[in-house]
Amino acid sequence: MITIKSQRELDSMKRAGDIVARVLLLMQEMVVPGVTTLELDRAAAELIRRSGAIPSFLGVPCAYGGIAFPGVICASLNEEVIHGIPGTRVLKEGDILSVDTGAILDGWHGDAARTFPVGKVSQEAIRLLEVTKDSFEAGIAAAIPGNRVRDISEAVQQLVEKNGFSVVRDFVGHGIGTEMHEEPQIPNYVGRERGPRLAEGMTLAIEPMVNVGTWKVNVLQDKWTVVTVDGKFSAHYENTIAVTANGPLILTQCW
Ligand code: MG
Repeated sequence: MITIKSQRELDSMKRAGDIVARVLLLMQEMVVPGVTTLELDRAAAELIRRSGAIPSFLGVPCAYGGIAFPGVICASLNEEVIHGIPGTRVLKEGDILSVDTGAILDGWHGDAARTFPVGKVSQEAIRLLEVTKDSFEAGIAAAIPGNRVRDISEAVQQLVEKNGFSVVRDFVGHGIGTEMHEEPQIPNYVGRERGPRLAEGMTLAIEPMVNVGTWKVNVLQDKWTVVTVDGKFSAHYENTIAVTANGPLILTQCW
């Protein structure tokens, strides 16, 4: 079932989303050569808790039988696509780091992700980050009442493939509200399903995951970290958005 949110509920989700946005702004400032992903995680945890919210990623059960997620952020470096576990690794010039995070405020979820360059990065990495953001923009432009979920998927996939990159297929966007993952699923590629029709008051996490090389991915031995099978870079761009009569509204707006 897809939940429809009232204006009041959207206002509550915006407050949760604002906290997530502030965390990502903090991460953008902190991502420099020399910092560890654990330091980023601690700073994110402190900001979320100081804001009166609950970090939603911490303790999420593992889909592959591993430990519950130990971080407040997912910190995915270079060829890591999503679900990287924060740790003692030190960021270095030329890396790219994807940070995904979520918070719950008054029972409502916000979920968003960005990929940051660490210092000066390659031209290809810069282009990857730009194309990933642009594919999100193309996707939300299709998030209007009357369209289908597949219209979002198609817009994302076309933009990415036109630029010579690929979209991850094993992981998808999702509805969001009082649960982090609600219906519908939002693939970043066109499959057989048209998907449900979009309506006012739906709230969605739209999140293209874009690879420089093949779309194929593996899960590492830690049963969390998803990596590209060819070892090439991957980027992620996500916001929680609302479908409204006046067009898509980003609930995790930071820049
Ligand atoms: Mg998400």
